[in-house]
Amino acid sequence: MTTGLDLDHVRGAAADTLHRVFGYDEFRGNQAEIIAHVVSGGDALVLMPTGGGKSLCYQIPALVREGTGVVISPLIALMQDQVDALTAVGVRAGFLNSTQDAEQRRAVEAAFLGGELDLLYLAPERLRIESTSALLDRGTVSLFAIDEAHCVAQWGHDFRPDYLQLSMLHERWPNVPRIALTATATEQTHLEIQKRLQLGDARHFVASFDRPNIQYRIAPKNSPQQQLLELLRSEHPGDAGIVYCLSRASVEKTAEFLVQNGIEALPYHAGLDARVRAANQSRFLREDGIVMVATIAFGMGIDKPDVRFVAHLDLPKSVEGYYQETGRAGRDGLPSTAWLAYGLQDVMQQRRMIDQSEGDDAHRRRLGAHLDAMLALCETVECRRMQLLAYFGETSTPCGNCDTCLAPPESWDGTVASQKLLSTVVRLQRERNQKFGAGQIIDILLGKETARVTQNDHETLSTFGIGTELAESEWRGVVRQLLAQGLLGVNSDGFGTLVITEASASVLGGERRVKLRREPEKPARGSRGSKASRGALAQLPAETVAVFESLRAWRAAEAKEQGVPAYVIFHDATLREVATTAPSTLEELGTITGIGENKLAKYGEGMLAVLSS
Ligand code: ADP
Ligand code: ZN
Repeated sequence: MTTGLDLDHVRGAAADTLHRVFGYDEFRGNQAEIIAHVVSGGDALVLMPTGGGKSLCYQIPALVREGTGVVISPLIALMQDQVDALTAVGVRAGFLNSTQDAEQRRAVEAAFLGGELDLLYLAPERLRIESTSALLDRGTVSLFAIDEAHCVAQWGHDFRPDYLQLSMLHERWPNVPRIALTATATEQTHLEIQKRLQLGDARHFVASFDRPNIQYRIAPKNSPQQQLLELLRSEHPGDAGIVYCLSRASVEKTAEFLVQNGIEALPYHAGLDARVRAANQSRFLREDGIVMVATIAFGMGIDKPDVRFVAHLDLPKSVEGYYQETGRAGRDGLPSTAWLAYGLQDVMQQRRMIDQSEGDDAHRRRLGAHLDAMLALCETVECRRMQLLAYFGETSTPCGNCDTCLAPPESWDGTVASQKLLSTVVRLQRERNQKFGAGQIIDILLGKETARVTQNDHETLSTFGIGTELAESEWRGVVRQLLAQGLLGVNSDGFGTLVITEASASVLGGERRVKLRREPEKPARGSRGSKASRGALAQLPAETVAVFESLRAWRAAEAKEQGVPAYVIFHDATLREVATTAPSTLEELGTITGIGENKLAKYGEGMLAVLSS
């Protein structure tokens, strides 16, 4: 047990490390609590959104406690960058993973045994090797940090079998505190982490999952590539961002399309050669303003702070996944956009994929539940953020920074329209023993005498031409929303034909009213107006823009020389503060957020020279 006095001492040491090493003034949210708890030897389970500041929660305890903090992370490809970023602030860090040769590994092991490491990053699979455990036994471990802890949860979307054996940490080293961290926060995942990692006695720290600087927008999908281009040109010219696509083929096509239109875009998916993938990731991290077009294989652990937008061209499979992916935007707290284009085809495709997926019924039901929650988010007429946060168990009020808040969609009573559509499906099925896709059903409702209509004698159906009050695009909206609400189904024949569901009967029988969303004529656009007000130059007084630009140029040169990402040198937010406060001495420079002892010593003179030129 720690006494009150000890705790004061612990808090003092933590605050001192925060200023001296990281150059920050104060802890954010519940960082101080978490750090004090872990420094005092307690176990912790930390749920905090991306960008919330999880890293300091184990890095500072590792610096304050005796020995080496061991960080378990699945992100082998990013370990070098993480170590570089720590080295830049004067923290002694190393990693052990399969990318190293024997000699490199021996050097890290020797440093660990010699007590020369504050932090050691390990891939989870290394712990299966007895020699790794034996190594840890021979040195002094100050704590275990289990990063991306949701990887242990089978309910979630990033399950890694190697994470299951991490319960052994507790069995083998019962006296070493453990801190598990994740940005995934549904109740189910939360409980699964606790159970599987045997964190029964851990204190839980649950932060708010709101990311107020991210603007959530979900647009009807018409011509997705053009819509994307329009978004990038009008709101994010020159900004770094991520575009997610479902398939490798659409990643390639979209990247090519953007390049042809003058945007620096790179592809990333599991089918690319590992070297190309690594090179593209590295360019995205190191250069300014690259757009990464990727499958969801990309992004976990990417801690680039200035990703200004995340765009989805296909519907994500779950709200958890969507929130993680969009959360990669705006870690630096500056305004950012999460934009998703979504249409009828997405619903059909996802339903089909679930039908055809391997695994048992329970698995399919789980996938179905995930999809339904995602569809409900897409079709809501309420504030998107309220619905997102509600999914994570938080109550909130309308945010004013999502598309439905900025341009509220109307809802309308779609009961009669739904009945017309459903009865067409029923008639085809019952009277003709036929099933058709959305296109044909809509043609029938609109009374179009197409070749396919006359061939099939569909003009003699009693519902032929009874739906001329709506336009074709509106009918597609009706189909999409009925599918989303489970009032209409996709047949599992693989042709996307429509069938009624058990729930359809209540609509046809008139017992259930159907509320539908009318698409806004003009989709919501960024509320903050013109391009210059967004991104890196946001809210910067005009007279300091030039200074900021020269600081950025200086930073780019430093980063290039050292072969590290620009943000490892300084974040935009730090350069911005330097530009606006114009410090003239090293002492003044040292008070700026993000400039700790080490960076002041290394870059102080250089920055002052830029400022005085
Ligand atoms: P997470 O891992 O939760 O996504 P990070 O640990 O990468 O978030 O932190 C996000 C950003 O916030 C980083 O750039 C980090 O340096 C910064 N940060 C974290 N804590 C503080 C703090 N107390 N004061 C200022 N900046 C902070
Ligand atoms: Zn809102």
